[in-house]
Amino acid sequence: MKYVSTRDAGARVPLSRALVEGIAADGGLYVPERLPPAPVDAMRGTDALAVIAERLLAPYFEDDPLAGQLGAIAAEAFDFPVRLTPFGQETGDRSMLQLFHGPTAAFKDLGARFLAASMARIAGAGAGPVVILVATSGDTGGAVAAAFHGRPGFRVVLLYPAGGVAALQERQLTCWDGNVQSFAVRGSFDDCQRLAKAAFADAALRQRLRLSSANSINIGRLLPQAVAFAHASLRVRELHGQDAGFIVPSGNLGHALACAWARAMGLPIGGIVLAHNANRTVPDYFATGRWQPRPSIATIANAMDVGDPSNMERLRSLYPDHQHLTAALSALSVDDDAIRARIRAEARASGVALCPHTAVAAEAWHRMPASTRRRLHWVVVATAHPAKFPEIVEPLVGRALPPPPALAGLLDRSVRREELDADPGALRDRLLAA
Ligand SMILES: *Cc1c(COP(=O)(O)O)cnc(C)c1O
Repeated sequence: MKYVSTRDAGARVPLSRALVEGIAADGGLYVPERLPPAPVDAMRGTDALAVIAERLLAPYFEDDPLAGQLGAIAAEAFDFPVRLTPFGQETGDRSMLQLFHGPTAAFKDLGARFLAASMARIAGAGAGPVVILVATSGDTGGAVAAAFHGRPGFRVVLLYPAGGVAALQERQLTCWDGNVQSFAVRGSFDDCQRLAKAAFADAALRQRLRLSSANSINIGRLLPQAVAFAHASLRVRELHGQDAGFIVPSGNLGHALACAWARAMGLPIGGIVLAHNANRTVPDYFATGRWQPRPSIATIANAMDVGDPSNMERLRSLYPDHQHLTAALSALSVDDDAIRARIRAEARASGVALCPHTAVAAEAWHRMPASTRRRLHWVVVATAHPAKFPEIVEPLVGRALPPPPALAGLLDRSVRREELDADPGALRDRLLAA
């Protein structure tokens, strides 16, 4: 298998190179040159994510030095459960896919741990540590830090907007020592991204440091997410005798794209709904056919505050025109008031506490016509644990939410917080100082 850029199908690189580069030299995103059919029969009858990963992803590792290590990578990355549970049966038959049982209580652990386990088996060239530089609006940075912490040969540098992330998210970004450094940038998330881009574009800096990225444009984060959707769709078929429809809380569209790939590989997925917050770029495009990226706006589902989703470029390479795209997927936008109302209503009806991102997807189910609901077994994808957002969720559900064990462990550690000006020179100095 080779990987090609969304902009130039001529450049073909093996998986390892796509993982290390993150983004293609022409500025495009790497996609597999084809999506071979999944060995669906061989994937039935096991509930182990690592086994499913090995069977589903074998063709995507073919011809690469990592091919022989896929089993070990999958076993190391998928060492926490993914749970498909009944959800709100009082109001209809549907399920919840809980992806938040990893070390930082958000689905981004899946991708970050798989990427780290893969990169750890590529690096090792002895030319100084690989510096993973990540701009984060919240969940990504924590997941990447947790996945790379303590790994020899790697140094992680996180940039997040000072005052722009939830309190618990900030603790997850700053509770590390050793090879993880995090900077509260005096600016917005866009400033953090600008700083990271400036560093990647700084040829002199890159001669001295082996810079790499681990954000959601890295193909190494998308492949494991496809595994989770493959696993869940097979369970749904087995348990409910229907194809699955996934309602995916979406921001940068990495997660939804992984779901679309799983469907293209032949898994029993009959529908995909892109559930966005008040950042309406994608739903507006579905409605009008005009692509109009815009600055992001802040919402209570902050990990989805994206006004110009990078992975649209990959979705377009899968569905080349508006007509194909809108036939294959649907999209909607849910504002903060509706998110709050949904968290309240779901707690009242079934006692389940939802995180604000998951509530966007739950609301999407409620807005579906009855005929659409009946056509598939719908799965609300739960992307973060509600206890990550106590300021928002606890007043709405009227009770305290104890953090899950993994999160509680992180919270006992001391934090190391450093501020940084939103200035490329300041970042360069810090990068070279260590
Ligand atoms: C990142 C994130 C999302 C959005 O995922 P994308 O792949 O960017 O669309 C949704 N929910 C949570 C909790 C997240 O951290």
